[in-house]
Amino acid sequence: MDYYSNQISKLIEALSCLPGIGTKSAARLAFHLIHMPKEDVQKLANTMVEARQNVRYCAECCTLTDQELCPICSNRNRDHKTIMVVENTRDLAAYEKTGKYNGVYHVLHGAISPMLGIGPEDIKLKELIKRLEGDVEEVIIATNSSLEGETTAMYISKLIKPIGVKVSRIASGVPVGGDLEYIDEVTLLRALEGRTEL
Ligand code: ZN
Repeated sequence: MDYYSNQISKLIEALSCLPGIGTKSAARLAFHLIHMPKEDVQKLANTMVEARQNVRYCAECCTLTDQELCPICSNRNRDHKTIMVVENTRDLAAYEKTGKYNGVYHVLHGAISPMLGIGPEDIKLKELIKRLEGDVEEVIIATNSSLEGETTAMYISKLIKPIGVKVSRIASGVPVGGDLEYIDEVTLLRALEGRTEL
């Protein structure tokens, strides 16, 4: 890429590290940035740095938040005895958008995948088991219906059952391999209401 100035090439290379951004898109973004007002670029850069510095895991449910506890965990009106287990923060957002779930969540940040070498210790499972020492009535497993999601659901249910907490799995109305965040609210609600005890 020596037909671009060194700094532009560096910018393109940096942008192409982002998911879904190939070299062509990276170049388009780079030239867009170069033509933006300097203070807007500064603002954008600051927003990225601040978000990265301040966003952390909620001490309770492990979702991404900039407080010690996320707004859901710190809401006393939510039912803290029902925990829905999801793979990531975007799945949590998908269920929150339905506005019909009043329990709390647990975000695993991944799913077990022997093929990719992701084991139970690589996701936020220990944190979930720790929460069950408290007053919990039901754990709803809402991992995706992909192979990894199902493997994770099975693993969790085996782990939790001996503890004596009710474990259920959302209905398989969710298309196989479908990421929860792309599924419409009606389907999500149906999956939640049609959950079966494991
Ligand atoms: Zn939380």
